[in-house]
Amino acid sequence: METIKTKCLIIGSGPAGYTAAIYTSRANLSPVLYEGMQPGGQLTITTDIENFPGYPEGINGTEMMAQFKQQAARFGADIRPNIISDIDFSKRPFLCHADNGDEIYADTIIIATGASAKYLGLPDEEKYRGMGVSACATCDGFFYRKKKVAVVGGGDTACEEALYLSTLASEVYLIVRKDHLRASKVMQRRVMDKENIKILFNTNTVGLFGEDGVEGAHLVRHKGTDQEEYYDIAVDGFFLAIGHQPNTKLFEPELELDNTGYIKTFDGTTATNIEGVFAAGDVADPRYRQAITAAGMGCKAAIDVDRFLLEH
Ligand code: NDP
Repeated sequence: METIKTKCLIIGSGPAGYTAAIYTSRANLSPVLYEGMQPGGQLTITTDIENFPGYPEGINGTEMMAQFKQQAARFGADIRPNIISDIDFSKRPFLCHADNGDEIYADTIIIATGASAKYLGLPDEEKYRGMGVSACATCDGFFYRKKKVAVVGGGDTACEEALYLSTLASEVYLIVRKDHLRASKVMQRRVMDKENIKILFNTNTVGLFGEDGVEGAHLVRHKGTDQEEYYDIAVDGFFLAIGHQPNTKLFEPELELDNTGYIKTFDGTTATNIEGVFAAGDVADPRYRQAITAAGMGCKAAIDVDRFLLEH
């Protein structure tokens, strides 16, 4: 346990957090970054990143985040593996605690806590969590070699997960609630070209079944119409890929959120409703949610912090 004083506390270690750390370190602000629950953030549980400029051949997400971290450390960012557990926003410097007992006095805070996978909210997801239900194909796909799996969702994440699983599993069902995919055209084409991916359009999941783990899913097609039809599919793995929820619990109720739960930032900057607190990356971005935009916001937050400190 330590008492730490810093000009800038950064919470989170995805592209936004590390970019903020690189910029604030180079501005001589000696930032302290707490990595949080998932060091490296969501990119460490994705497959290859093909759309981040500078990597013409693509790069593995974990490797890219290790490089971000190395770059931040090179300029002197103090990177710690713990989790920030509470913050007193009532006065500056903000007094924060970490789960290892560290006490941190921070002149400014950059929140870059990202977002976490959403679940459908079915009781069976809880019942079978870790027993066939997962929100991360790259983490758990290995267990389903030559088995049948389902992926729920119609966005880029769902397509990416389905494609990854199709290289391991014998068959992949992609369960899509609408009659079309929301994913980018290139991802749609890849999924449609894969022989062992079967897309179930207009389909919702009602429940899961199985003795000691998932053995199948109860589905409904054309729910609420006169074509409504209930049926089951046999699968050993059930993967969720229906979007993400911003990680804001720690900052409520003080920080203002928009109506979908993302931290509100003001006037085209990363400033939040609390002076000296800034937000960057997926936790504050309901629209773009890309690694590159998160990194860009991390840079903006660092510049906003630097200006704020000059003015105060
Ligand atoms: P999205 O919000 O884009 O898509 C979520 C999908 O899940 C939609 O098809 C949505 O259906 C469906 N869905 C949501 N809630 C439910 C529910 N309760 N039941 C059934 N289906 C549901 O999230 P993603 O995680 O796919 O992508 C987020 C962002 O990240 C996007 O901007 C995406 O482009 C980007 N991304 C880019 C990648 C790349 O370029 N390689 C890879 C991964 C993500 P509906 O369409 O009906 O709303």
